[in-house]
Order: sequence, then C-alpha cells, then structure tokens
Amino acid sequence: MGNNVKIYPFRLGSAIADKSLLTYRLGMGSKVEMAFGCFYVEADGKKIMVDTGPSSPEHAIKFHKEVGPQIGPEEQSYIQLEKVAGVKPEEIDLILLTHLHWDHAYHLEKFPNAEIYVSKRELEFALNPLPPFFFSYENWQVGLEPFFIPAIPRMIQIDMTTTRITKHVSMIPAPGHCPGHMAIVVETDKGPYVLAGDAIIGQENMQPLPERRCPFRMTGLYMDFEAQWNTMETIMRIVGWDRSKVLGDHDQTVLAKHVLPD
Ligand SMILES: [Zn+2]
Repeated sequence: MGNNVKIYPFRLGSAIADKSLLTYRLGMGSKVEMAFGCFYVEADGKKIMVDTGPSSPEHAIKFHKEVGPQIGPEEQSYIQLEKVAGVKPEEIDLILLTHLHWDHAYHLEKFPNAEIYVSKRELEFALNPLPPFFFSYENWQVGLEPFFIPAIPRMIQIDMTTTRITKHVSMIPAPGHCPGHMAIVVETDKGPYVLAGDAIIGQENMQPLPERRCPFRMTGLYMDFEAQWNTMETIMRIVGWDRSKVLGDHDQTVLAKHVLPD
C-alpha cells in the first residue's frame, strides 16, 4: 500500500535570460530559455498548490518585459489545474508559497477557499523590499499595487523553521534567493521530493563542477550568497543527491513531466 502522494507540474510559459542567472558566473553573454511554473500536490486527502505562477501575459509584458515573458492565454495556474488534474480552483484546500515574487504567487483570489502558508519574513520583505526588488514584488514605490495584498487575511505566517503541513508535506527554510524563501518537502512512495521554488533554477545547478571542486553549481539569482549555497546543499542532502527529485519553478525538464513520481 503506497501513500498515493502525487505531484503535478504545470508549465506556465517561458522567459529568456542571460545564462549567468541560471549558473553563477558561468555562460555570461549567452541566452537560455527558462520556464515559468508551479505544482499541484495531492497528499493526505488535501488538494495543495505549491506556488500559483505568474500574472496574465498582458500584465507580464507591461511590467516585466526585461525577462521577455511568453505566456500563453491558457498558461495560468488555475486553468492548468482544471485541464491537467481535473480539479477546480475552489477545491484547493492549501496554497504553500515558496516566496512572493510576481512570477510565483499570482492569482491567489482564484483559489477562494484555500489557506495560504507563507513565511512571515517573506511577507515582511515583500511589503518593504530593497529597491532592486520593487518590481519583483510589484511595490507601491514603482507605482504598482502589490498583487498579494487582498490575500493577506487568508495567510498563515510561519516562522523560518521546519513546519509540518500534512503527514507527508512540510515546509523548510530555504533562504538566499530572498530572505524568507521556503521550500516544500513532499514524501512520496519513491522518497522525498523537494519543490524548491527559486532555490534551484535548473538541472544544471545540480551538476558538479570538478575543476573548481564544487559539488553543484551556484545559481545567479541570489540575494545572500552564503545562505543560498547552504540552502542548495540542504536540498541536495534531503534528496540523497538524486537531482531528479528536486523540482524548481523555472526548470523546463521538470515542468515537461505529467505527474511525479513517474
Ligand atoms: Zn523569485
């Protein structure tokens, strides 16, 4: 008898970025395609979204054009939920947010019956970010209204500590990309998977770099280098260095899968 935990990746469009954002100081000047994405998890009788993806294509093009967002009209988390998993947005019980960047936590109002888990630290920073992150959080300082404000009454603000959500699902601190970033550990019949948000950008981050004696490749999207490095190491330990069990929100390979474990 298995635990019947299932993870559905949703691909929600793509963006173009300099490769050094994927791998720190490697590939500068060359471009890579990254996906946008999020995940739906069924575990312990609960219907759970892990992140809710980016905004509409029109909004993304207007306010985040520097990443060249290409988001199809159907590539929205609440639409993919029905199409891929056959679940209506109002059936979602829980939303677990890795962080509050615009490409991970949009459309919270489409899931009206969900309790939303986010770290208190992330909400604090999102409301008052350092200037380079005003657009990431759509702050008032750049003439926008933070998209997550109406959902604050539904948010359960947790500390940066391991927090069990259901029997097989936990949130763990994973700072570095931003101060309050968390990751989600999902225990399946085939071992633990880590839904890493932006703590891992792509599979290449988990390749060793032997000539530099590095066990994996640092991402270029960090605020705190040391915290980010330690987070990556923690994640790799949890999955026993099995890269296929680390699921990042921007990873094309992962988001092309239908359901995990496969
Ligand atoms: Zn992010």
